[in-house]
Amino acid sequence: MIVIKFGGTSVGNADRVANAIDIVAARREQKPIVVVSALAGVTNELVAALEAARAGDGERVDKIIADVRQRHEDVAVRLVQQKIDFFESFTRQLDKQIEQIHTILRGITLLGEITARAKDKVVSIGEKLSSVLFAYSMMMRAVPGEHVHSEEVVITDERFGEARPLMGETRAAARRVLLPLVERNLVPVLGGFIGSTRDGATTTLGRGGSDYSAAIIGAAVGADEIQIWTDVDGMMTCDPRLIPNARVIDTISYVEAAELAWFGAKVLHPKTIAPAVEQNIPVRVLNTHNVSSPGTLVTRAGDTRDHGARAVAVKRGVTVVNMTSSQMLGAHGFLAKLFAIFEQLQVSVDLITTSEVSVSVTIDDKHNLKQLVERLAPVASVEVMENQSIVAVVGRNLMRDSEVGAKIFTALRGVPMSMFALGTSGLNLSIVVDEKDADRAVKSIHEALFETPLRAAV
Ligand code: ASP
Ligand code: MG
Repeated sequence: MIVIKFGGTSVGNADRVANAIDIVAARREQKPIVVVSALAGVTNELVAALEAARAGDGERVDKIIADVRQRHEDVAVRLVQQKIDFFESFTRQLDKQIEQIHTILRGITLLGEITARAKDKVVSIGEKLSSVLFAYSMMMRAVPGEHVHSEEVVITDERFGEARPLMGETRAAARRVLLPLVERNLVPVLGGFIGSTRDGATTTLGRGGSDYSAAIIGAAVGADEIQIWTDVDGMMTCDPRLIPNARVIDTISYVEAAELAWFGAKVLHPKTIAPAVEQNIPVRVLNTHNVSSPGTLVTRAGDTRDHGARAVAVKRGVTVVNMTSSQMLGAHGFLAKLFAIFEQLQVSVDLITTSEVSVSVTIDDKHNLKQLVERLAPVASVEVMENQSIVAVVGRNLMRDSEVGAKIFTALRGVPMSMFALGTSGLNLSIVVDEKDADRAVKSIHEALFETPLRAAV
């Protein structure tokens, strides 16, 4: 069994839906369960409709909802209309959902307030509609799709808007509802992003939550693999906008992927695949626009063939705070005093390096900076460097490859560095450079590590 999840751009219009269905059809042997996002942009539109309703702008509400309705009808006209009873059944459901949204939005206008519960009811409509539409479109193409309400399967707590699954209940429900369908060779189709409380109230799992749904469902049924189909080839050795030569990473461990996400890699948020990783279910990121590309495989172990660098990433807009003890050498309690001040001001520290008398940290939130410096002054002499960037090379057991360090520092010849830190887990080497040198640093490190044949085969 596999879970196949399609993101919004992969079901954005009739051609994309047809393409997605071909992908499912080609994987029938693997007993797929399909999870779909809302059509691209629809969730944002629904959020906009909620805001317009609260503001009492009925005209704007009507326009947005009419557009949302039209988007779905357009796909149905292309993919479902030939079978008139399917088409009529779909448009009936479409109208029913649209009517329901209008009722909720009218209530919001009357009250001038959006409750979390009402919001989830409205934003979940995107996935409700896309999944029903997908199931009908599958049947039209002779793939036996069977729509399943996510609320019957994904049981969550009551944190509307950011709900978390209750895995015990979800596992039981998923097995009861989905397995009999799979056994009959049907392909269950569910909307991502949606769950339900024990009492049956609709919840959502947070923006971008369809990946999370796929992982939850995959974990619940014990799938062999979870495939996240999106619009890029996978995770890359660097942001391709910065490095056109960036390559797709074929295999990466969950912790490496999490590290890259912190640096802003947006392809896959590791938090959302945690339920799968906990059960050691591999997650594969694939491209609906480039079906033959192998994508990136994320597993607990990652690439066990070798160790060394996986990717280079950069985080900009970082501030370095250097603190030198004004006390004598070796005085204890210095660090505790410093960090108590960070804690009081709720400033979170990212990198730390220390020497006997001084500590340097990076922070990426400057908003309490002035107060921070004032409060630190009695304890340490403080120097602040703004407009810095952290350039990080990520890879498990990074330095075990004895070439890597040399390559990185050679590549950085001529670039002044203000801090560097090897993560204790050996997962990354972070180097702080001035913002103006960051691109150059990333380019030459990427070139040294990924564009010249260096990694000795193990
Ligand atoms: N449609 C939801 C969103 O846009 C969930 C998702 O696409 O993953 O946030
Ligand atoms: Mg997404």
